[in-house]
Amino acid sequence: MKLEFKLPIIPRRLFVFTVFSILLLSACPSEEKSADAKTPLILISMDGFRWDYFDKTDTPNFDELIQLGSQARALIPVFPSKTFPNHISIVTGRYPENHGIIANTMYDPVFDEYYYIGQGSKPVLDGKWYEAEPIWVTAEKQDQTAMTMFWPASEAEILGIRPTEYFVYDGSISHNARVDQILKWLDYAPSKRPQFVSTYFSHMDDVGHDHGPDSEEVIAGIQEMDRTIGRLIGGLKSRDMFKNTNIILVTDHGMASTSPDSMIFLDDYIDMDNVTMVDWTPVASILPKGNVDPIYVKLKNAHPKLSVYKKGEAPAQLHYNTHRRIQPITAVAHEHWSISTRVHFNENNNSERYNGATHGYDPIYKSMGGIFVGYGPAFKSGIKGPGLTNIHLYEMMCRILGLVPAENDGSLDSTQIFLTN
Ligand code: AMP
Ligand code: ZN
Ligand code: ZN
Repeated sequence: MKLEFKLPIIPRRLFVFTVFSILLLSACPSEEKSADAKTPLILISMDGFRWDYFDKTDTPNFDELIQLGSQARALIPVFPSKTFPNHISIVTGRYPENHGIIANTMYDPVFDEYYYIGQGSKPVLDGKWYEAEPIWVTAEKQDQTAMTMFWPASEAEILGIRPTEYFVYDGSISHNARVDQILKWLDYAPSKRPQFVSTYFSHMDDVGHDHGPDSEEVIAGIQEMDRTIGRLIGGLKSRDMFKNTNIILVTDHGMASTSPDSMIFLDDYIDMDNVTMVDWTPVASILPKGNVDPIYVKLKNAHPKLSVYKKGEAPAQLHYNTHRRIQPITAVAHEHWSISTRVHFNENNNSERYNGATHGYDPIYKSMGGIFVGYGPAFKSGIKGPGLTNIHLYEMMCRILGLVPAENDGSLDSTQIFLTN
């Protein structure tokens, strides 16, 4: 299989390296940078790994990290509990309305373009969509080295900067190959070794959607992810690096079962010819073709399992009001419910499709919670903390890496109970 591997824009880095090395050589002892690189931070996301999955089966490798490190009861996502909004919040500390990725699928009225995710997506690679500074940019700006074996948007040039090494998303690259790439990076000579490394696995999201969170397939998936973490731990131990590595395990969101019996059909209430549906379920983004109010009034009290907000009127705790990519009407299904149209549902014989599970719902539901585990010298041992909103992780990572954080919505106080200093 061919890995699509991209080097960053060499001239810029060479320039930065040359200028900074001249400026810094006398001011900064050379041991300082290599000392940082001796304690790398590995950020790992397992998409859709729900907070209670550790209890479903034996997970000896996860257990090793948890017992030696810190754990939150759950990692609480931001709204909407979808992949891209949350991965970008984790690495920027900003709410979606402040980082710009307010959904996996969205329309920008200024660009007059759609954003969408998935393998081969062009907009994902286009830095103009991202409005906040990810941790790898903060690191590179402050003369550290960041390398990403996948992370949503890490393949884009954001604020003019990319990770020193990164991969364009390709879900066919095996779990083992992702771990081996990280180990390869950690084998680099000290001057090239990254301080920050990330990786990402979509596996638990895939099996959760298809088979539901209580399925045998999810149990097999948890075991597969545990083996993958075991490969990383084994690789670090064989290099005598395990004690000197910080590892953060996170999830973007959890998973809730859906059913073809729990459907909200918008065409029961409005004429679908009068709206453009920018996104569908469980968070519908609705752009009326004419006046907003007649559509809003019809939807507002249409269904007891549907919350409908006019732009600017979403509850404050959702932080979902200001960005231009938020459409005039947002309709949010309640847990376990799905949004469609009767025509679409019947024509496509869709009952199978709604027989699995999904996410995107209000983060208030326990089922939307993910995991947070922190292991390594930066983390206290044996701590079981309360639920933690993912918005605080950027500040925490900056602290661990010794970086000055960019403007963000999180606070270091929220993660202090997990940290050794
Ligand atoms: P979701 O259903 O919201 O959890 O989205 C999960 C999907 O996001 C995965 O199955 C991938 O197809 C997609 N995805 C994850 N990372 C990337 C990436 N870096 N670029 C494009 N698509 C991605
Ligand atoms: Zn996800
Ligand atoms: Zn998903």
